[in-house]
Amino acid sequence: MVRVTVPIPERAYDVVVGHGLLEDAARYLPEFPKADRAFAIVDRGLVDRVFGTLAAGLAEAGLDVVLLPVPSGEEAKTLQVSETLLHQLATQEAHRNDVVVALGGGSTGDLAGFVASTYMRGVPFVQVPTTLLAQVDASVGGKTAVNLPEGKNLVGTFYQPRAVLADVEALATLDERDFRSGLAEVAKYALTLDLALLELLESDPGPVLTRDPAALESLVARCVSAKARTVASDELDAGPRLFLNYGHTLGHALERVEAFAGRTHGEAIAIGMVFAARLAERRGMAAPGLVGRTTRLLSSLGLEVDGPLPAVDEVTAAFRMDKKFRGGVRFVLLRAVGEPVVVDDVADGELRTTMLEMGATA
Ligand code: NAD
Repeated sequence: MVRVTVPIPERAYDVVVGHGLLEDAARYLPEFPKADRAFAIVDRGLVDRVFGTLAAGLAEAGLDVVLLPVPSGEEAKTLQVSETLLHQLATQEAHRNDVVVALGGGSTGDLAGFVASTYMRGVPFVQVPTTLLAQVDASVGGKTAVNLPEGKNLVGTFYQPRAVLADVEALATLDERDFRSGLAEVAKYALTLDLALLELLESDPGPVLTRDPAALESLVARCVSAKARTVASDELDAGPRLFLNYGHTLGHALERVEAFAGRTHGEAIAIGMVFAARLAERRGMAAPGLVGRTTRLLSSLGLEVDGPLPAVDEVTAAFRMDKKFRGGVRFVLLRAVGEPVVVDDVADGELRTTMLEMGATA
């Protein structure tokens, strides 16, 4: 078991990473002496599997557990679902010291965090992430969100959890595609912030790919440490936290393009990282070799690296929201592995050429 503290002043909390943690949840959770109940917002697909174990742990911690199932995955991230949950909390007279617990992937965590942050202006919140992506990234750092038909994550808050319990045993049932989607975020940390992790994955990704529990525990703990350091230095996303968006500019745009629908978040950002590496080489910012190293890493983790991208016009239209807010499209690029910078002056021509290079139709 590894405990990583997210050292945000006044609101520091621990991320506990291990295997078999949920059976012993009472031991790893902070005390909530004024709480009577735990409202567990649970991905419906996990109700019959992981929930029972967690519920026993919460009961042992002295909390009456109320199950609030929500649709699986991204479908849950809507204002409608959050409204239903807020009504459920109100009709069941949840009080301001009761605890909201999220059990599921990043979608469930984003939704539950949003609900916890808005009900009575904020009630204690615990994240129990069950996907690799949520364990290494989404459950840590306090970003919450639901989607609007106009775009992803358009409504949300910054709201830190009181604790995160990341039990890598939960990852055993994750399907291969969702597991690999999480590996894209792992690759992001390796390429931007943790060269030792990069070298480890390059030399032998085997134990991670076969989901060896010890390898996963150490992998998740490393990524969480990198995220904790970054978030503590920039909670509200104005400086170094932007580096965590590596691969996400194109990734988010692709997620808005219909022709790309059905791909996971990780699949979109993997292609986004290749795109960013190509841009950095094209501008002479990074020495030749970055694209090769990026594609080798991602391919070895089972991720697609060459699109093909959808039509240039569709992707360009999907960048529009970024352009509107900032007057340009903002990218995180690498000068070299481990040296991220934020770049605001990428010209339309560069975007277009790079998209065409990656198989987009003109
Ligand atoms: P997800 O929550 O949508 O889950 C993916 C699938 O895995 C779903 O079908 C779910 O039912 C299933 N699942 C969950 N746990 C499982 C388990 N243990 N075994 C088997 N199946 C399981 O996907 P995700 O990849 O975890 O999260 C993606 C979401 O996270 C996106 O909405 C993204 O915007 C968000 N996100 C948020 C942050 C943040 O900082 N808040 C960061 C990155 C991503």
